[in-house]
Amino acid sequence: MDYQSIILPHIWNLKPYSSARDEFKGNEGIFLDANENPLGSPLKEGWNRYPDPLQLTIKDQLAQIKGCQSNQIFLGNGSDEAIDLLIRMTCEPQKHSVLICPPTYGMYEVSASINNVILKKVNLTSDYQLNLTAINQAIDSDTKLIFICSPNNPTGNKINRSDIYTILEQHKNRFVIIDEAYIDFSDEPSFIKELDKFPNLIVLQTLSKAYGLASLRLGMAFANPLVISVLNKIKPPYNISGATQKLVSEALENKTFLKESINSILSAKGDLTSKLINFKFVKEIVPSNANFILVKFEKSDELFDYLIKEKVITRNRSKVELCEDSIRITIGLASENQILLDKIIEFYT
Ligand SMILES: *Cc1c(COP(=O)(O)O)cnc(C)c1O
Repeated sequence: MDYQSIILPHIWNLKPYSSARDEFKGNEGIFLDANENPLGSPLKEGWNRYPDPLQLTIKDQLAQIKGCQSNQIFLGNGSDEAIDLLIRMTCEPQKHSVLICPPTYGMYEVSASINNVILKKVNLTSDYQLNLTAINQAIDSDTKLIFICSPNNPTGNKINRSDIYTILEQHKNRFVIIDEAYIDFSDEPSFIKELDKFPNLIVLQTLSKAYGLASLRLGMAFANPLVISVLNKIKPPYNISGATQKLVSEALENKTFLKESINSILSAKGDLTSKLINFKFVKEIVPSNANFILVKFEKSDELFDYLIKEKVITRNRSKVELCEDSIRITIGLASENQILLDKIIEFYT
């Protein structure tokens, strides 16, 4: 892949900001280089020093966990930062385009709009799969990025793996970004293992869902080391706080929480799904590979409002094309799901 032709010239040629921590990397010495407070901070921990701009400790841990090299990982302040940087790395406003397949995650469109980049939308098919023919028709020589979300939000289903391979093979001169925010809940393996085969592949993951760390804001992009080095060049120098790096490192040492919460959420999902599907007012539940289900209800808007009134908050997707009459329900604790179920039954009786 000719990276120089897809990455914008001013980004390719950019000389990045060189921080104090870039220029001197040791841990010992008298640090008079970064205008920090030498006395410490009002907190118990010493947060007075700037953090590692490249987050090498957690990248080493993540490389182990994900089975890749540390130089194939970019860390962002949430996946949303990676989405924004990928657009800015490749797309000139009003000239280049990105392609998305709705109904899907809203940030791709918002990020494209913020960057004033052309958006091509090719709807998923009625069973929420890629429409390969329409995608190929929509794409032109100025299309730089193709976003595929699998398992998809808000539908919860996984995208056929063979279709993703087809896209990767047919579009070797643009980036194919696979957003795997929900991969830990899926029976499908990650595409991270395919990075060496496809130089145009970028995989996004996050610690916000299965890992239970949404508040710490840590998103990951996995790609060829050259792509990662460009992302590192254009990110804000200290985009991951020292507090986040420390807490994430601790969290990644715990191997049981992730497994146990996935098992428990998947079991609660099976339970809720099998109960809901028996009701006449439930018209459809999309087979889910995520930690939520998209459910088509009779009188969905009224149900949604009723649930809010009863302090059960779900996500109304009924105005989203191809998700008519549907509500997205995050799988909660068994006790929370039971209350949800009780309130739904209450509404219809
Ligand atoms: C939740 C979600 C993300 C995660 O975003 P963060 O910024 O990392 O919290 C990314 N993509 C999709 C499809 C999501 O649903």
